[in-house]
Amino acid sequence: MNKLLLSSISVLNQVYKEKATGPVELVKACFDRIEKTECLNAYIKTTKDIAKKQACEANNRFTTGERLSALDGVPIAVKDNICTEGITTTCASKMLLNFVPTYNATVYKRLKDAGAILMGKTNMDEFAMGSSTIQSFFGPSKNPYGETFDDDNFYITGGSSGGSAVAVATGSCFAAIGSDTGGSVRNPASHCGVVGLKPTYGVISRYGLIPLAESLDTVGIFTRTINDCVIVFNHIAGPDDLDSTARKRIDLPIRLPTKPNLNGLKIGIPREFQSTHLMNEVKQTWDDVAKILKDQGAEVSEVSIPNVILSQMCYNVVNCCAISSNMARYDGIRYGHRAENAENSIEELYAKTRTEAFNDVVKSRIIAGNYFLLNENYEKYYVQATRLRRLIANDFDQVFENVHMMLTPTNLSTAPSVKEFLLHDDRSRTAMEDVYTLSANLVGVPALSIPIKLSKDKLPISIQLIGPNCSERALFSVAKVIEGIVKFPLQCLDNRYL
Ligand code: GLN
Repeated sequence: MNKLLLSSISVLNQVYKEKATGPVELVKACFDRIEKTECLNAYIKTTKDIAKKQACEANNRFTTGERLSALDGVPIAVKDNICTEGITTTCASKMLLNFVPTYNATVYKRLKDAGAILMGKTNMDEFAMGSSTIQSFFGPSKNPYGETFDDDNFYITGGSSGGSAVAVATGSCFAAIGSDTGGSVRNPASHCGVVGLKPTYGVISRYGLIPLAESLDTVGIFTRTINDCVIVFNHIAGPDDLDSTARKRIDLPIRLPTKPNLNGLKIGIPREFQSTHLMNEVKQTWDDVAKILKDQGAEVSEVSIPNVILSQMCYNVVNCCAISSNMARYDGIRYGHRAENAENSIEELYAKTRTEAFNDVVKSRIIAGNYFLLNENYEKYYVQATRLRRLIANDFDQVFENVHMMLTPTNLSTAPSVKEFLLHDDRSRTAMEDVYTLSANLVGVPALSIPIKLSKDKLPISIQLIGPNCSERALFSVAKVIEGIVKFPLQCLDNRYL
């Protein structure tokens, strides 16, 4: 059973088919795993009763030979900023501690309808602002690959969807959902050694995802293998009348060739992503993967996306402006936290409520956003940022006229320890984590993080493929070739959590 927990959805389906085990038994084993890995703090809330019920229903279906889909009976986890009817959805904030949505996000509804089993809601940086998952009201998630898990001495998971990454890496579920506004799926996927997809903007419905910055927000997927990522993608992607920004036409389902052929494939290595801050081992891995692709018949060449170096500045303005508006709804009136002893005026109630319930990261972004949007600053910052965003998008368009996709690292380094992370202020350390991921959100294109190897300190190193709009199929195909050759040691965590 333990080996099965770190295997893939495809293997699980085979096991189900042979009736070697059933969903009820499997879900029990997954909850044992959650208990054994409790110190990693992957979940804000586990949903044992719901999971048990869903597992029984799947069991019953299996006995009558009725399978809903390839996700029937498959344990999954969902980030706690995605609405789940009747189940608290906190955004890891005191503000939404008792918030119980009355409806399901489209992604969760689709997973549920496909027969997937909800194990729980995963930990995250408050309101998805961060790259560490240490900025959670519920305490930090911890990297399963770290040596120690003490509160003042652990390795960060990356963020903001750190809980989802840990849940998948440690085998308490087979897939997890996260959100990626600037890297929040790819970053923790990379640090925790799992596959992480940020889809093309609008390909997966955002309905029911609590917004951070709508024009950048995407719902993303964590799995242990590329094939699994395709399976989940095929179930949750596609048009949705409830999300006006959802794309109307998407080629689904994606089916990958069993033996993808890379002859004629053109891969670009963006010059601007070479950096003195890039850890040697990560740089070496990037070069090694480029060589692997070359050996498989791809043409690898340097490309340039000159304006990408301004992504961080552009992102900061666009992101904070959206946040200052989106966070305005948390005022203590209709739902969420409400300060006590604030009866003198409505202003006092707003101020006390928001002072008490938001963390410093959220507060600082609200202030920055309001500053950028002041009458005298709007043109100088916001309009300028949207222009810059267009220039970055133009760079990408131009590159994709000549290459099919770009190969980049996902992170500058392996997961830092919390001590190292906290040496700098949150904003600049977060910015360092995001250098390679932000631009895909600004431009809207898909990007996929793939685990490659463990560093000499036994921490995962991953690379990223970025393609033009709606190129998920191509990204998955190339990633599958890489995955087959590098054989990331997925099962190595098992010895720790058996
Ligand atoms: N690290 C980025 C930020 O803090 C991205 C977060 C995200 O993708 N949700 O804004």
